[in-house]
Amino acid sequence: MDVIEEFIKNQQLSKREYEEILKLWKNPEVFQRLSKEAVKIRKQHYGDRVFTRGLIEFTNYCKNNCYYCGIRGGNSKASRYRLTKEDILECCKNGYELGFRTFVLQGGEDPYFTDEKIADIIREMKSEYPDCAITLSIGEKSYESYRLFREAGADRYLLRHETANEEHYRTLHPSQMSLEERKRCLYQLKELGYQIGAGFMVGSPGQTLSHLAEDMVFLQELQPHMVGIGPFIPHHDTVFAEEKSGSVELTLFLLAMIRIMLPKVLLPATTALGTLDPKGREKGLAAGANVVMPNLSPVKNRKLYELYDNKICTGEEAAECRCCLGRRVESVGYHLVNERGDAVK
Ligand code: SAH
Repeated sequence: MDVIEEFIKNQQLSKREYEEILKLWKNPEVFQRLSKEAVKIRKQHYGDRVFTRGLIEFTNYCKNNCYYCGIRGGNSKASRYRLTKEDILECCKNGYELGFRTFVLQGGEDPYFTDEKIADIIREMKSEYPDCAITLSIGEKSYESYRLFREAGADRYLLRHETANEEHYRTLHPSQMSLEERKRCLYQLKELGYQIGAGFMVGSPGQTLSHLAEDMVFLQELQPHMVGIGPFIPHHDTVFAEEKSGSVELTLFLLAMIRIMLPKVLLPATTALGTLDPKGREKGLAAGANVVMPNLSPVKNRKLYELYDNKICTGEEAAECRCCLGRRVESVGYHLVNERGDAVK
């Protein structure tokens, strides 16, 4: 247990030590100790407030072919859609009325949306909702593209690194993609002044505790403002259709560790966590998470943004999602707030 107390005291460890802690993930006392500390730290910086992000899944076209993802380009069975700029602005209007002050534009890597089109959407969102933060989650782009989006008004960028181990990365992605390129994007986004979010799936095929220890070391080095993690969940039309889902418990254990390592981080209790366990998001908040990301996409498109099987919240209107999440957040003693929810300095 010494290593746990050392981690709590110093908030930083070596890869070997992270792995030592991770080996204890099934031990309830260790989890208790970590999550108690995580909640304490979370309260110091964020009180009992939980931030919301309105997620707008604006295209499920994708030129990439990540083996785990249901909307990968190679999945000929996926039925594809794109929202228009007007659709997107309608989602924002709806969201703004419901109290959202951050909008996340997420999508596959869709060449239809040229840099100019994206910049134009950002500018329009910013001019209509100047008090809102705009987050992009649209994959790997050049430095110039990132700069253009930033100048157009984008504030934040989510780009999970997926795994910090080169070899593991290659087993999850086709050879055109590389961890090096993913990291290049994250560092450049940071340099351009975005608040950046990295992250990974827990229990992706072939993942070991040693890989997760490498993820911890990478996050420690990158110092992102946000970290998105959620369990891997198989999708029936992917190479990994027959693989097992990741563990909810291990995800919660990692959430607590990440909160301790990066005390001020914005840490969502993800939809994937809520998909595998009906109380998953509440448990995430109780393990140190402080963000939820309900869906603002039009209901008719929701089911089609199918990254994995059985994704929750695909049938409700945004207002219902907001109310439902509000209740869930209250049930564990926190409050949803209508703010941008920037990372604290
Ligand atoms: N195209 C964007 C957005 C990707 S979707 C990008 O490349 O960043 C957002 C996240 O969903 C991914 O980063 C991945 O970590 C997660 N995801 C994809 N497939 C998943 C699956 N089968 N189970 C759990 N999470 C998945």
